[in-house]
Amino acid sequence: MRLVALVLGLGGVVLLAIGVLATRIPSTGLYLFKRLATRRIARGRRHLADSDELAVLLCGTGSPLPDPSRAGPSALVAAGNRLFLVDAGTASVRNLLLWRVPLNQVQAVLVTHFHSDHIAELDEINLQTWVSGRDAPLRVCGPPGVDEVVTGFNQAFGQDAAYRSAHHGEDFLPPAAARMQAVTVAIPSESGTALVLQSEDLTITAIRVQHDPVEPAYGYRFDYKGRSVVISGDTIADKNLAHAARDADVLVHDALNPQMVAALGEAMTATGNLRPAKIMQDVPGYHASPIDAAEVANTAGARLLVFTHMVPMLPNAAAERLFLSGVSAVRPNGVKLGHDGLLIRLPAHSTAINTTTLRA
Ligand SMILES: [Zn+2]
Ligand SMILES: [Zn+2]
Repeated sequence: MRLVALVLGLGGVVLLAIGVLATRIPSTGLYLFKRLATRRIARGRRHLADSDELAVLLCGTGSPLPDPSRAGPSALVAAGNRLFLVDAGTASVRNLLLWRVPLNQVQAVLVTHFHSDHIAELDEINLQTWVSGRDAPLRVCGPPGVDEVVTGFNQAFGQDAAYRSAHHGEDFLPPAAARMQAVTVAIPSESGTALVLQSEDLTITAIRVQHDPVEPAYGYRFDYKGRSVVISGDTIADKNLAHAARDADVLVHDALNPQMVAALGEAMTATGNLRPAKIMQDVPGYHASPIDAAEVANTAGARLLVFTHMVPMLPNAAAERLFLSGVSAVRPNGVKLGHDGLLIRLPAHSTAINTTTLRA
C-alpha cells in the first residue's frame, strides 16, 4: 500500500510541476492558448441554410421561470442568408454567439409582444449585430407600442454606444447605425393578419393571437419558396392562429402544462411561498396547454408541431414525458419538444423536414 501511495504521490507531484511550469513560463501557456484559439476561430461562422432553404433555429425555449438549460423565448428564421429574429429572450443572443451564427445577416427583429421575457435582450442583439458590421439602424417590428419600447432601449444604451464608437472609431462602429428603428405593424380590427414584408420569394405575415391582458399580441408566419414556418408567440388556443397557420410545414407553439403548474403552485403554498404561488394560479389563463397546441396544429394541418416556451421548467426526461402526457391521443405524429439549438431546415419545393442540434 505504501508503494502505491508513493507512486500516486509522485504522479501528482509531476502533474503539479507541469501545471506550474505552464503557468510560470508565459511563453508556454500563450503558445497553447494561441493554438487552441486558432483552432476555434478557424471554424468560422455557422451556415444555417442554403439559398433555397427556409430554416428555423430555436435559440431560447424557456419562459420567465429560471431553467439553466433553456434561454428565454427566441427563434431565428433563415430565408436563405436573410435572418430574422423573433423575440430576444434572456440569454438567447449569447446562444447565437456561442453557435457562431452570422449576426451580420440579421435583417430585423420581430417582436410578438412586450412581456419582459421576450424583449430582455433587444439591446444585446442590437449591440452584437452592430459589432458584426451592420451599417444601418436595426429594424424592430412589432405591435403598436414598439416605438415606446425601442425609444426606451435606445435611451438606456445610448451612452454605451457612444463609448464604443469613441473607443473603436466611428468608421468601425458608425454612431448612426447604433440605434434600433421601430416599425409598427398594425393589424386592422376587421382582419386577423397583416403583411410585414413581401419580396419576390419571401412573405412575412403578422397574426393576431390571444394573450389577454396583453393586447395586441402577435405570432408570425414566414413563407419562402414553397415552405412555411409559423411562430405562435404567447397565446391560448387561437382560431385565428389555426387559420393563419394553414398547411404550415412547422408550427412553433408556446405551451404550459396546467397540471404541472398547479402542482408547483401547491408545493409553493405548502412551503409558505405565497407570492410565486399566486403567479402559478394566474399564468395558465393566457398560455395554451400542450394538448391545446396539438389541436391547433391539427386544425391548421401543420406538418410538424414544435413546443417552445415550456412552463414549468423540465429538468429531466421524466418531466418532459409528464409535460407531453395526453398529446399523443390528440396528435399521434408530428410532435417535437423544442430545445435550445434545435435547427429545422426545409429545402425549397420539397416535403423534407431536416432537424439537427447546434452546440457551442
Ligand atoms: Zn407573454
Ligand atoms: Zn412569454
